[in-house]
Amino acid sequence: AKERGRNCFSFFTPAMQKQVQQRLSLANDLREAMSKDQLQIHLQPIVDIVSGQVVKAEALVRWKHPKHGMVSPDKFIPIAEEMGLIHEIGDWVFRQAAEAMSLWLAKATGNDCCQISVNISARQFMHSDIGNSWVDYLSAIHLPPSHVVIEITESLLLGDEADVMVKLQRLREAGMQLALDDFGTGYSAMSYLKKFNIDYLKIDRSFVRDLESDPNDRAIAEAIVVMAHRLGLRTIAEGVETEHQKDILAQVGCDYVQGYLYAKPMPVEEFFAFLEAK
Ligand code: C2E
Ligand code: CA
Ligand code: CA
Ligand code: CA
Repeated sequence: AKERGRNCFSFFTPAMQKQVQQRLSLANDLREAMSKDQLQIHLQPIVDIVSGQVVKAEALVRWKHPKHGMVSPDKFIPIAEEMGLIHEIGDWVFRQAAEAMSLWLAKATGNDCCQISVNISARQFMHSDIGNSWVDYLSAIHLPPSHVVIEITESLLLGDEADVMVKLQRLREAGMQLALDDFGTGYSAMSYLKKFNIDYLKIDRSFVRDLESDPNDRAIAEAIVVMAHRLGLRTIAEGVETEHQKDILAQVGCDYVQGYLYAKPMPVEEFFAFLEAK
């Protein structure tokens, strides 16, 4: 469909034209973003629903554009993928996240500390030697891989099955864990759950948003948790914004919660200050 799109300039409205131009200009700027230190990672706490402790954090990439301010990753990750820049960016995010995790470990006192999760897109996974280079990096900085969770999506599992299987297995054998992101929004993921060794299901924000008012969403959340537990997986609910949503999630047995109720994603130093203030 993309190929066809390229030859259909006659259908472009001015609004579409503007969008394309904006994309092109962002694409050019993105090449420089890395070398000019415009990318950052932010960390968002993930809370154990029973203890209320921050036990994990998700690393989310940020682009501080000199002219446009913060550009959403939903906007620039797809561009990075098209340009083939996603590998460089993804490796950088992984290293930043791993280093933040090392810092956290050094500061932590409890013995059940803690994990950092990193998002990886399907495209990123396709043409690269992620398994080995990431494992090597963790060993170079002496971070035990069990402190790293890789967040994948169902679309990744739809790719070349054998290849994906080998790469995921490599990460898991090294000791990293896997989370299936945005669970319930894509295709029927049930069969993949059998084939791939996944550790966490992330209940998508779209099921959390109306939990208070929509009994169907509660039923879905509960069904996901029950199924996950029967399969030996744990669940993380995303986009939790209210105490009431959290209470319902606790009632249905969800294990972890993440959302603005606790904190928005924040720069690494702020995250540590946040932990200390707790
Ligand atoms: P995601 O992995 O599903 O990340 C969760 C998104 O929900 C984040 O948006 C986060 O800021 C937002 N969020 C968290 N809690 C709440 C809440 O309580 N309410 C609401 N309304 N939103 C909440 P963000 O940071 O803009 O990231 C958007 C997407 O971009 C991510 O969705 C992920 O798919 C992608 N992304 C972000 N960082 C990376 C990265 O380093 N690599 C790759 N490949 N993708 C990334
Ligand atoms: Ca995610
Ligand atoms: Ca998600
Ligand atoms: Ca998402």
